Amino acid sequence: MTVSHNLGFPRIGANRELKRVVEAYWQGKIDSDNLLEHGRQLRARHWQQQVDSGLDLIPVGDFSWYDHVLDTSMLLGVVPERFCQNSDAINIDTYFRMARGRAPSGAPTAACEMTKWFDTNYHYIVPEFSEKQLFALSYEKLFEEIAEAQSLGHKVKPVLLGPISYLWLGKCKGAEFDRLSLLDDLTAVYGEILNRLKAMGVDWLQIDEPILVLDLPSEWQKAITASYHSLQVKGLNILLTTYFGTLANNVNLVCHLPVAGLHIDAVRGSDQLTTIVDNLPAYKILSIGVIDGRNIWRSDLDEIIALLNPIKQRLKARLWLAPSCSLLHVPVDLEQEKKLGIELKSWLAFALQKLDELDVLKQIFSQAVEENEYQALIGPLQDIKESRLSRQSRINSTRIHRDDVIKRQAEITDAMFERTSAYAQRSLKQREELALPKYPSTTIGSFPQTKEIRQARHLYKQGEMSHEEYESQMRKEISIMVAHQEEIGLDVLVHGEPERNDMVEYFGEQLEGFAFTEYGWVQSYGSRCVKPPIIYGDVKRQGDMTVAWTQYARSLTKKPMKGMLTGPVTMLQWSFVRDDQPRSVTCQQIALALRDEVIALERAGIEVIQIDEPAFREGLPLKQSEWKAYLKWAADAFRLSSAGVKDETQIHTHMCYAEFNDIIEAIAKLDADVITIETSRSDMELLDAFSEFDYPNEIGPGVYDIHSPNVPSVEQMVNLIKRAADSIPAERLWINPDCGLKTRGWPEVKAGLSNMVAAARQLREA
Ligand code: GLN
Ligand code: ZN
Repeated sequence: MTVSHNLGFPRIGANRELKRVVEAYWQGKIDSDNLLEHGRQLRARHWQQQVDSGLDLIPVGDFSWYDHVLDTSMLLGVVPERFCQNSDAINIDTYFRMARGRAPSGAPTAACEMTKWFDTNYHYIVPEFSEKQLFALSYEKLFEEIAEAQSLGHKVKPVLLGPISYLWLGKCKGAEFDRLSLLDDLTAVYGEILNRLKAMGVDWLQIDEPILVLDLPSEWQKAITASYHSLQVKGLNILLTTYFGTLANNVNLVCHLPVAGLHIDAVRGSDQLTTIVDNLPAYKILSIGVIDGRNIWRSDLDEIIALLNPIKQRLKARLWLAPSCSLLHVPVDLEQEKKLGIELKSWLAFALQKLDELDVLKQIFSQAVEENEYQALIGPLQDIKESRLSRQSRINSTRIHRDDVIKRQAEITDAMFERTSAYAQRSLKQREELALPKYPSTTIGSFPQTKEIRQARHLYKQGEMSHEEYESQMRKEISIMVAHQEEIGLDVLVHGEPERNDMVEYFGEQLEGFAFTEYGWVQSYGSRCVKPPIIYGDVKRQGDMTVAWTQYARSLTKKPMKGMLTGPVTMLQWSFVRDDQPRSVTCQQIALALRDEVIALERAGIEVIQIDEPAFREGLPLKQSEWKAYLKWAADAFRLSSAGVKDETQIHTHMCYAEFNDIIEAIAKLDADVITIETSRSDMELLDAFSEFDYPNEIGPGVYDIHSPNVPSVEQMVNLIKRAADSIPAERLWINPDCGLKTRGWPEVKAGLSNMVAAARQLREA
């Protein structure tokens, strides 16, 4: 027997059911009983699907209404006072208030911070710790879900975010203090949780400690050992799960933690497998994550079998099999896709197909044969034959490999990465050309995506609206947006992106080498889902992508009109990327395609072009030793896409939810004339980076938090800018929101932007 299990299942549902019910609840369309019932149904379905896939243990506690880190905060009673006065019971409304920024009275308040979960595009709600933080078991959700799964007859393996990772991912509020000082109290509450689980008859508990793949300070390494030594509950087996990388120099520490089992990510961390097997105490099980939970390619089963074979001989029943990490990061079911084409589909696997692959491996490794007998055993298997065929067809397909793209890459010269003059000279020319006031105001690109806009795009896509009709409606929308911006008094306008459902999909659809799914949704944050494109082949631009819309918008105003593109790194980062060549090579292909679009926009008379790179930071490898190489190729890709223009053309870039401090020099190397960034939700903390490092070009620190429905006041924004002016010379400051406005409604946007423009005017006068 070889045990197979799963670390987590996509919670949103194959048709984004979770999004629908959560949003309906927020809008008051359904009540909490109704919401909870929908949750039960989704969980029941997902558990059953996992059981049907042949898993021995199914995860429980991976379901979340918004985010599992926020769930953990609720479980542990880490609820900041602004969301819950002492008398309030903590309930699902408290939970949504933390995520969305509401006081118990319903009045707006600062939402909890949100940030990226390791190097994924999933966002978690950052726990806020005060120096006197109390921890107390405060929320029953986990226990209720376990009882629910048990009552359905499932073999349950609860999932908990571990104390060390939880503490690490959180943040001190108020005065800075050492978070580790909270660990003892925190561990004590985990102890209570473990006892409750034991009492519920839980046999195996999965505790996620993904920070074990990071470079950890030695105090944290010590703290882990101490914490797990005190987390001992007799009869309850802990499976300590790590993922997203190798254990690197934490390897010895991890192997010897007092837990019953260890899970490692063998997709990203197979180099250390032998060391781990050698070092693992004989009582421990080793769960090897062999199926890629971060990508949608079908596995190379032969390769996995070759990897596992010698290990199986040594570990025997102590070997467990699993996906590399939670399947949260992949869509649910490939079977739903009807438009992908047989060939492409044969290369792919979504969550359910991944569990099928896992089951094939489990069946193979459950047969007790000798190492040299496996070939004979697997040869005749249909699943293996199909896996091999799929592999072969990817290697040979002319849909994937394009000679002209490869040739162009070979011909790239050094000069293609450089603007003609340095920023100092360019900025003079641009100032003259654009004639902007001090503290120029702009937006990040998108404006509210109204029902009409969505409807029109939908009908057009379904073939129910003619091209002419669609075009004229979009033009009408653009003209409305331009008129609004004129009225508000913004300085650099945008066309508003009504024709884009998604900033990557829009471009990918027009490029060769990209494919799109119908249902391939993954959760990005809360109820927000994204449908990442699949980059399966060499990327090539077929023709203009944004020129006509931008040119039309420009014709409506005398103010500068900013062209709007998605950058190469973000396109890469927010797609499922082919795994048959280095990411840097794929990124460079996208950069070349974008370079042509940038030049085409300039030719069409567009003087300001923004190349969004919100995912630049997120592409950073988790281990510092790998940063340099990434930052080099990523910055090169941006420069390759942007440097083809003349000095007078102003290149903007935009990044949001990024911590800049550690990559500020690399960002300066992008050599964009202007960068707009997220700051408002983290109290301008971001600016620390700019006070220590003399950022040479212009910056627009976002003063308007678009992730909350609250309308910021003029005063608030003036104050933020004044603070920014402490670290950045005023002549290089721009005034803008911290991200695009597509998810907001017009009334709040008009109010917010009008205040923002008023703030800019006030500053100019001062
Ligand atoms: N231009 C994009 C928009 O405004 C940028 C979005 C983003 O940064 N995620 O929607
Ligand atoms: Zn943004």
